[in-house]
Amino acid sequence: MSTVKYIFGLTFFNLVLFHFPFYAYVLEHIELGTLDGVLSFFVVTVALFVVNIFFLSLFAIISTTFLKLFGFFMVFSAPIALYFMSTYNTILDRTMMGNLFNTNSSEALSYYHPKMFIYLFMGLGLVYLMRKIKIQKSKRVRLLKYGLGVTVLGVLILYINASKWLWLDKHAKNLGARAMPWSYVINSVRYKLRALKASKKQILLPPATFTNPNEKELVILVIGESARAKSFSLYGYERETNPKLKKEAIVVLPNVHATATYTTASVHSMLSYKGSSSDSYEPLPNYLQRQGVEVWWRTKNWGEPTLKVAHYQRASDLKEDCMGEGCGYDGVLLSNLMQNIKASKTNKILMVLHTTGSHGPSYFEKYPKSFEQFRPVCKTVNIKACSQEELNNAYDNTILYTDAFLASIIEKLKKEKGLSSLMLYISDHGESLGEYGLYLHGTPYAIAPDVQKEVPFLFWASPAFKKSKDLEELSFKRDEYGDANIFHSVMGAFGMKSSIYDKELDIFSK
Ligand SMILES: [Zn+2]
Repeated sequence: MSTVKYIFGLTFFNLVLFHFPFYAYVLEHIELGTLDGVLSFFVVTVALFVVNIFFLSLFAIISTTFLKLFGFFMVFSAPIALYFMSTYNTILDRTMMGNLFNTNSSEALSYYHPKMFIYLFMGLGLVYLMRKIKIQKSKRVRLLKYGLGVTVLGVLILYINASKWLWLDKHAKNLGARAMPWSYVINSVRYKLRALKASKKQILLPPATFTNPNEKELVILVIGESARAKSFSLYGYERETNPKLKKEAIVVLPNVHATATYTTASVHSMLSYKGSSSDSYEPLPNYLQRQGVEVWWRTKNWGEPTLKVAHYQRASDLKEDCMGEGCGYDGVLLSNLMQNIKASKTNKILMVLHTTGSHGPSYFEKYPKSFEQFRPVCKTVNIKACSQEELNNAYDNTILYTDAFLASIIEKLKKEKGLSSLMLYISDHGESLGEYGLYLHGTPYAIAPDVQKEVPFLFWASPAFKKSKDLEELSFKRDEYGDANIFHSVMGAFGMKSSIYDKELDIFSK
């Protein structure tokens, strides 16, 4: 059998034999009776096909033996993976592969079930059958042409069906985790790489001193998500999207630029003392924790650097004790907020709230019903199908909710009379809502439009904080602000000094 035929055959049998969970998921999330549904079905099949041909051709170019061995591995391991997925109703994403790698032998035994033998036997049987296939070696150039040809054709088909991208994007994680054998192969590699990166030591920063070590000081840092300055009335948007914050004595910093257009990079840079999105120094929370600050990280988002802090809480951890309509939204991050802070015996507390904010494309799912004030609203993730008005309405409702979320933190802080407290809010990056035909974010920085780069940055300070920092004298009229200010301003807020502290970047310094 020629190599090309072998690759094609293996791909075909892979799709037919091992993709029941994959197609079950697809069928659950499309309406097959509609043209839209048929197109989605077609597009995922093409994508799956291209991925298989591409990697198998690549393996064949490396060597025919490698391709053959991978074929054995594929037909042997896929049934076992299917067994796990069907028995434990799980998907093989990165977290799951991490769980499997971290399973010790006694736990591994608990996965055992006689039914597993059927799957094992099936895998062995397939290997036995395949071992008789003789692959005739093909020239590498021919394989390269074949692999590239299929890939280009596939990409072209996907390009023509660009309207399905949002659908693909929304389900990518779930589909990828069901694509055999790539889900467990790639997610194992991803897990190992991440573990390697995490184990790479963060370079520690020099020790710091506090101006008033005995004074109780609280900083709440709220990290926004996909909130653009342009849609904040505080930044001049004609529509009232900040009805609550405008009544508070907040300071709104002008001309703020994010350093990146996607979450991991911008969160990294706002927590880096260099304001860099890729350095290996310990991030702000870890540094402060090591210097004696009690650090809390509460998240309804993801993408933060490796943290070593006293309290790390996901929304799912906080949901148990949460009450009210906000619990399914960012409001969950406020669950027992002041109770936890007041119960702390530490003088310096940093509370980071990493919100999900205005993360698209399902803006309509980011706020409680009572915040659906701008109507009609885009209620599909296929946002291109919505009118501009519906899309703006859905997005603006997320800003309204963010406005209320921040105002409610201020309300809580106001009640703690005499406490020196500060709430800082900055968004990680902005968002495109159809301007220049772009949606969402993540456009390469050099060509990204301003709406993806210009973000809101504001703060509220308690009277005690204002007094200790002489805030009335500060004008906050620098030419430009950005996430590079966060690290040094938080240090400044706590009255921390060390050799890496940069007064120029501290917005509270004179
Ligand atoms: Zn983001």
